[in-house]
Amino acid sequence: MERLLTIDGSGSDRTGTNRLRAVLRNNFNEYDQVIMLVNSTKYGGSGGEFSTSSVHNSGAELLRHELAHSLVGLIDEYWAGDGYATDRLNMTRASAETMRWRLWNGSANIGRFAHGTSGLSAQYFKPTTGGRCKMEVLNPRLCAVCTEFTIEKIYEMSDIFDDYYPQNLTGVQIADGSSLEFELYLLTPFPNTQRIRWTLNNQALPANTNNLAVVQISATQLTATGNNRLTATIQDTSSMLRGIGRNESLQTITWNITRGGGGVAILDNDNARARGVFVGISNQEIRLLLPSAANKADVALYDIKGRLLFRTDVNIKGSFASIALPKSVATNQAVILQVKTDTGFNKNKMVLVR
Ligand SMILES: [Zn+2]
Repeated sequence: MERLLTIDGSGSDRTGTNRLRAVLRNNFNEYDQVIMLVNSTKYGGSGGEFSTSSVHNSGAELLRHELAHSLVGLIDEYWAGDGYATDRLNMTRASAETMRWRLWNGSANIGRFAHGTSGLSAQYFKPTTGGRCKMEVLNPRLCAVCTEFTIEKIYEMSDIFDDYYPQNLTGVQIADGSSLEFELYLLTPFPNTQRIRWTLNNQALPANTNNLAVVQISATQLTATGNNRLTATIQDTSSMLRGIGRNESLQTITWNITRGGGGVAILDNDNARARGVFVGISNQEIRLLLPSAANKADVALYDIKGRLLFRTDVNIKGSFASIALPKSVATNQAVILQVKTDTGFNKNKMVLVR
């Protein structure tokens, strides 16, 4: 099909797709989205599992459109044919009152516009018309509806809690007469429109803790017996969000704390974090939380060109290790952190040195 740039094989023939998957499997442990850029000035592209585009003058702009298909799951806002008619984020047969983007209806050029005037195209509706969304034509931005779904998808794919302390969410103890700091390291948008609210046992902490990433809790603030719940609620208050998506931009984290005991018990088990594993860098320390069976880890840092910056072997105690970074590793650069344990655990992650 003219302009439809795809990977070899068509229909049920997945030869090219399978070959590409094998290349990825053998060469890249982790990837989020693959872009196939073809060294040809002929115009064309496609979305799906892999996004494709060419070096045509409009190739970069087209790629933004294709990425919105691949990454976000948006559908064309031009009529691509009856075969593409389906209920999707930005395509619906629902009424104005029940459609997914009803909270935007009547503002920001958003409405409920039929794709066409006859047949199936008259039964399906889109949020914009007249070339106001990148999913319809090249060059305009995504419409408000497609933008909100894109932001939600980014939140869904990333972990808003880049890091936090203590890293165990249960079994935290604060001894009488002492206190403990609870810290959040969040992935934030720019400009930062996230708001943080703290509650302890469902009571708001004093207003001066709003938006603080660190709060200090003392034993006297806790009930003497039983469990105390400290919760941070993070919400992105951007005007680009009206809550039409899955609300991934609103997230909470809760520590369960008891008063007393021998003091602060941190990192007591391998369920310390929901996913049980964390590798990252903060305060110029590499911090690792690994599967409990691991005894040793081989830790390496590479720059984005693959040059080794730092390597060391560490002993893992109770799933946890922290390693001070040498001064030679510059801050504010993206690096690949590679962690391999004696139990076969293997993780590569791009992180910012800070
Ligand atoms: Zn749109």
